[in-house]
Amino acid sequence: MKVKTKGPEETRRLARDLASKISKGTTILLYGELGAGKTTFVQGLAEGLGVPEEVYVSSPTFSLINEYPGRQKLYHVDLYRLAPEEVEDLGLPELASQGVMVIEWAERLPFSFPQEMIIKFKILSPEERELEIEEPS
Ligand code: ADP
Ligand code: MG
Repeated sequence: MKVKTKGPEETRRLARDLASKISKGTTILLYGELGAGKTTFVQGLAEGLGVPEEVYVSSPTFSLINEYPGRQKLYHVDLYRLAPEEVEDLGLPELASQGVMVIEWAERLPFSFPQEMIIKFKILSPEERELEIEEPS
């Protein structure tokens, strides 16, 4: 499925709506360049999963993995700065089974997950993005 969004608020709303369909153990892999809207998407996802409003969702660039409380635990990972060996050491598969995991820069993953949803972001214009969504089979 391909969807276009016009502005960050639409990307957040799309993610928020998608959250209702996501079950524990699902890993959402986000692909796309810097500024494509991956973190913006995670903000909407967090809202949809019931993460309290006051919890600020930003890229876990230094912490590697952010854990947010919600109806499901949400694990937010950004692999931008990591080498494949370092990714192996994070223990992502174990964590992924305990809640919902969302991974920015999934291009860097050296392995796959049992239940993957794949989202590829394309920048169409300064305010427009195309999201290609593949739901888990
Ligand atoms: P990434 O995590 O992929 O690097 P961010 O979500 O951090 O991207 O940043 C996306 C930037 O693009 C934000 O500044 C946001 O306001 C802007 N933007 C403009 N249009 C959109 C859109 N349709 N969807 C998401 N972000 C958008
Ligand atoms: Mg980001």
